[in-house]
Amino acid sequence: MRLAERATSISPSPTLSIDAKAKQMKASGVKVISFGVGEPDFDTPQHIKDAAIVAIQEGDTRYTPAGGTLKLKQAIVEKFRRENGLEYQTNQIVVSVGAKHSLYNAFQVLCQPGDEVILPAPYWVSYLEQIKLAGAEAVVVQTRQENGFKLTVDQLKAVITPKSRVFLLNSPSNPTGGVYTKEELTALGEVLLQHNITIISDEIYEKLLYDGLEHVSIASISPELKENTVVINGVSKAYAMTGWRIGYAAAPAPVAKAIADLQSHSTSNPTSIAQSASVAALNGPQEPVQAMVAEFEKRRNYMLERLNAIAGITCPKPGGAFYLYPNVATYFGKTYQGKPVNNATDLANLLLEIAEVAVVPGIAFGGDDFIRLSYATSMENIQEGIDRIEKFLGELK
Ligand SMILES: *Cc1c(COP(=O)(O)O)cnc(C)c1O
Repeated sequence: MRLAERATSISPSPTLSIDAKAKQMKASGVKVISFGVGEPDFDTPQHIKDAAIVAIQEGDTRYTPAGGTLKLKQAIVEKFRRENGLEYQTNQIVVSVGAKHSLYNAFQVLCQPGDEVILPAPYWVSYLEQIKLAGAEAVVVQTRQENGFKLTVDQLKAVITPKSRVFLLNSPSNPTGGVYTKEELTALGEVLLQHNITIISDEIYEKLLYDGLEHVSIASISPELKENTVVINGVSKAYAMTGWRIGYAAAPAPVAKAIADLQSHSTSNPTSIAQSASVAALNGPQEPVQAMVAEFEKRRNYMLERLNAIAGITCPKPGGAFYLYPNVATYFGKTYQGKPVNNATDLANLLLEIAEVAVVPGIAFGGDDFIRLSYATSMENIQEGIDRIEKFLGELK
């Protein structure tokens, strides 16, 4: 059977082979410690679960409007007003099947063949494939470790062409945890406005911030930037609701309408029950979020200190999300019992095989000098996992 070019152009996730190997090892009884996960290890707060149970019992089980219920859109409008200083109307909000779906829809309605999307690296791997699926071309720009993995204005200016259509912003970042300041966003925003480049701003980690940092949405900086930005967010990371699949986009009304129309012919509405639960997440008590953030911060501090104490590793301090992104290039050219370590992929494979610790090689995010470690796992696992990594790296020759 012939596959369409669209299908054959999709790259399978580079993290998949490590993940498959880790699962296989676990199944055969090996106690693999995984720093590979991309979701909170906490349970969804009880009041959110309760809201879903009530929704089922009250018959909240039918189709909703394709772009989401009015109740959830109102909760999202309130959230933007309260937390981001942004004023939207409900016709500017579209609820989708996770933020990943919101991003997919945004690329679909904004990009076409001939367009370029400026994508700072390291990047979350799905952006690249979603850009390709929209027929556009990703222009990948490598950010620098010494700049906190943030794109500078000069780097941005250097890659703008008449074809530049969209700029992808992800702050706090997966995989680096980098957080842009308001000044940095203002400077980038000015250049993007000059060139009429639309911003897709993925703010899914907005609540997972440490050291007293505050989230600034680029859309909140000026009315012009708001008009030029599609804000993407969701409940997965902030409320430990990855399985519920609710994300949303806020955009100028014609863009929101295009997204809702597209969605009306594909998934239609996200699950009615999960939408009701999301209303409870956004409108309800926020203490569970604060407790989760406090725990993440403790883990980050411990893991960062342990990693930076290992000779050969340099790891910048991330301001947000739940990942560390250490540079491991000093180990390249070494061997473990004759097996070569030529890049982060070799290192990740050996860490899994020998130390029984799963990490994601940086190649998955567009750079092979790094590995990504998630601290969305228990303190006990973190201690044991870092002990194993330290021992293994000490045995490289
Ligand atoms: C997890 C994640 C998402 C998507 O989350 P959903 O579960 O689809 O809402 C989007 N962007 C980044 C950078 C992520 O890490």
